[in-house]
Amino acid sequence: MEIQNAMEELVSQKLDEVIDSLDCCKCQQCRKDILAYALNRLTPKYVDTKKGLAFVKVNTMDVQFEIDILTAIYEGVEIVKKHPHHSLPETGTQN
Ligand SMILES: [Zn+2]
Repeated sequence: MEIQNAMEELVSQKLDEVIDSLDCCKCQQCRKDILAYALNRLTPKYVDTKKGLAFVKVNTMDVQFEIDILTAIYEGVEIVKKHPHHSLPETGTQN
């Protein structure tokens, strides 16, 4: 049996939806850091990959669940902004 953490897919999709509106670096490294932080904050949902993610989405996509995901993403963004895993551009860092 193959299982995966359904949250990886759900949080990744949500991050794609909101990242354009976020005031943060959007490179692959920062995106992965935000994703990792959010996933560590959220309770994992392990599913049988053969059943697919549709089953999980139907059962989890209520408002509170979405708020929890967004909150974790926003917290991850704040952490990554303060501690990026790469050097920042020279401009725009004075304030
Ligand atoms: Zn970056």
